[in-house]
Amino acid sequence: MKNIIIIGAGLSGIYAATLLQKNHNVTILEARDRIGGRVLTVDGFDMGPSWIWQHQKHILQLIHEHGLELFSQYTQGLALYDTPKGVEQFSPPPSAPSARLKGGVIVLLEALEKKLILDTIKLNSPVIAIEKDEKTITVKTKEKSYQADIVINTLPPRLAVESITYTPSLANNIVQKLSDIPTWMGASAKCVIEFETPFWREQGLSGFGFSHVGPLGELHDACTHDKAALFGFFHAQAKEKSEAAVKEQMVRLFGEDAKLVKKIYITDWTKEKYSSVAADHKPMATHPNYGFDVNAYDDRLIFCGTESAFEDGGYLEGCIVSAKEVITKI
Ligand SMILES: Cc1cc2nc3c(=O)[nH]c(=O)nc-3n(C[C@H](O)[C@H](O)[C@H](O)COP(=O)(O)OP(=O)(O)OC[C@H]3O[C@@H](n4cnc5c(N)ncnc54)[C@H](O)[C@@H]3O)c2cc1C
Repeated sequence: MKNIIIIGAGLSGIYAATLLQKNHNVTILEARDRIGGRVLTVDGFDMGPSWIWQHQKHILQLIHEHGLELFSQYTQGLALYDTPKGVEQFSPPPSAPSARLKGGVIVLLEALEKKLILDTIKLNSPVIAIEKDEKTITVKTKEKSYQADIVINTLPPRLAVESITYTPSLANNIVQKLSDIPTWMGASAKCVIEFETPFWREQGLSGFGFSHVGPLGELHDACTHDKAALFGFFHAQAKEKSEAAVKEQMVRLFGEDAKLVKKIYITDWTKEKYSSVAADHKPMATHPNYGFDVNAYDDRLIFCGTESAFEDGGYLEGCIVSAKEVITKI
């Protein structure tokens, strides 16, 4: 039985803990005052990830095992194309069907957390330093030091390099490798607009659309089982990520019905210091070719997390793949 410290209570860290706790003493140190990391559900709306695709067998299996409910992303009807010359309707080509979790993605993390021994997760515990000596590794927060045989670092790779001090220093090739890996969705800002009714569905629209005008560049239906909503990603060049600018765009796209906004939720992930670094705030042109296998300190410091997954890296599925991979190393 080993003492294992996991850094980060995102999906990768919590899932890895559920696997390891059967045979080891596991503690998770989490910087924020909540679990989830990039998974964030507010009032039932997903401000981080929301979709799971049919080919993602590991996460689908986990959802099934926990008796959680999935529903299909609403895509029926026409889409909108918002240009400086006006709004056009079009029939989008079929895309891979996606599903969402009833209650939001956080319900999966809460279900996993329930499996852990009470007090496994220490919230408000940002790790600032990792020090290795002959026998143990010391993981330091501002207030406390923890001794471990093995440390699993689930931070996005660039954050793992920039926000933690390592003694002895990590080898240059490891620092370079981790610094080269962009954080998935590190440049994104998401907005959910809640309405009284899903009026766009009655207009024969799916809620899906693109905009060159903004501020939202891409839109989708975000209705939950009991709430009507659209969501959008802010355009990378959006000057204003404000509620007023979003409301104006809604009326331009959907007409008078869209004036009845109930509430607007905005999460700007570029402002989340525990999710990304400055270099991540430039939008990516394509999905990076994720997957890496980096260990340090005689394989006692293991880097994990979605960006390390060779399969579906960047996605929720990648978290499960990377955590399972870590287990094979311990
Ligand atoms: C807007 C958005 C939309 C997305 N949409 C989708 C989608 O539809 N489908 C999909 O599959 N994926 C999507 N993703 C990606 C998905 O969110 C990630 O793949 C997944 O959440 C990554 O989990 P993780 O545990 O690997 O990393 P993280 O969730 O980043 O976990 C790392 C954890 O480490 C903590 N931490 C950071 N620094 C420290 C420190 N110094 N000490 C201690 N703890 C620290 C963080 O607070 C966090 O809890 C989206 C992401 C975003 C932001």
